[in-house]
Amino acid sequence: MSHPVVAIVTGANRGIGKAIVESLIKTSQGNLILYATSRKGFDMGFNTVSDTQIRYPALDIADLGSIRNLAKAIYQDHEAIDVLINNAGVNLDNDYTPENVKATLDTNVRGTLHMCQAFIPLMRKGGRIVNISSTGSSLDQYSGAIQQRFRSPEMSLEDLELIMQEYQNCADNGSESANGWPRKSYSVSKACINALTAILAKANPSLAINACCPGWVDTDMGKMVGSRPAKAPVDGAKIPIRLAFGDIDGVTGRYWGNPSIADKGCGQVMEW
Ligand code: NDP
Repeated sequence: MSHPVVAIVTGANRGIGKAIVESLIKTSQGNLILYATSRKGFDMGFNTVSDTQIRYPALDIADLGSIRNLAKAIYQDHEAIDVLINNAGVNLDNDYTPENVKATLDTNVRGTLHMCQAFIPLMRKGGRIVNISSTGSSLDQYSGAIQQRFRSPEMSLEDLELIMQEYQNCADNGSESANGWPRKSYSVSKACINALTAILAKANPSLAINACCPGWVDTDMGKMVGSRPAKAPVDGAKIPIRLAFGDIDGVTGRYWGNPSIADKGCGQVMEW
C-alpha cells in the first residue's frame, strides 16, 4: 500500500486556510493526513470522510520555537511530508507604524521562510510547497533599482533579508517614497514572498515550490480592502489546492494567479 499523503496548512482556523482544509477533506479519496494548524491549536471539528486523518497542532509561524516543536513532532510520526501550504499571514497596514512594518515582515516573510527551512528537510522528493502571496506583490510601485534587485535570478536569502532591513529602515524614518518604496508593508511582504519562492525553488530542485494570489476573497483580511470581496473562501482555495495537489506541469519557483482577482479559475503563471 502506498504511503499516506501528509499535508500541513498554516492559519487553518479561519478564512482561506479553513476553506483549503474543508475542500481537501471533501475531495480527499482517503489516505490523507492533514495538519490543520492554528495559533491556538484547537480542534476545529472538521468532519472527515473515508481514511482522512486530521490533526490540530498549535503553530505560531512568527515563533521559531513553535515551528521547531511542530517539525519535531511531525518528524517523529512520519517518514516524510508531501505538502506544505504557507497560508498564514497578516495585513497591519490600517495602522502603518514601524513596529507593524516589522511585525508584518516577521510573520509574512521571515515566518514563512522559517517554515520552509524547518520542513524542507522533511519533504519527500516531488513534494510541494505553496506560499500564499497577493496581487499586492506587483513591483509597479517601486523604483527601477529595487525592481531589478527583486527580479535578479541571483538573489539570495541574504539579499532578501537585506532588502527587508532597508525597507524597515526607511519605514523607521519615513523615507519610503524618497527611496523608491511604496508605503505598504503588506505589499512589500508579498513581493518578498515571490522572491523567496524563486530562491527556494532554485535551491531545491526535487520539490515544486510556487507562490500564488488566491484572488480577492471574502475573509476578515479580504474585507479590509473593500466591503464586498469578489470570491467566496472556497474559490480562494482553488489555486493553492491546485499548486499543492493538481497538475502544474512541473512548474516551480513561479507566481500564479488569475488575470482578474474576481476570477474563480485555478490559476496560471503570471508576472508580478
Ligand atoms: P484572515 O485574516 O482571514 O486569516 C489569516 C490567518 O492567518 C488566520 O488563521 C490567522 O490566525 C493566521 N495567522 C496570522 N498570523 C499568524 C501567525 N503568526 N501564526 C500562525 N497563524 C497566523 O486572512 P485570509 O484568509 O484572507 O488570508 C490568508 C492568506 O491569503 C494570507 O497570506 C493573505 O495575505 C492571503 N491573501 C488574502 C487575500 C484576500 O482577499 N482575502 C488576497 C490575497 C492574499 P489567527 O486567527 O490566530 O489570527
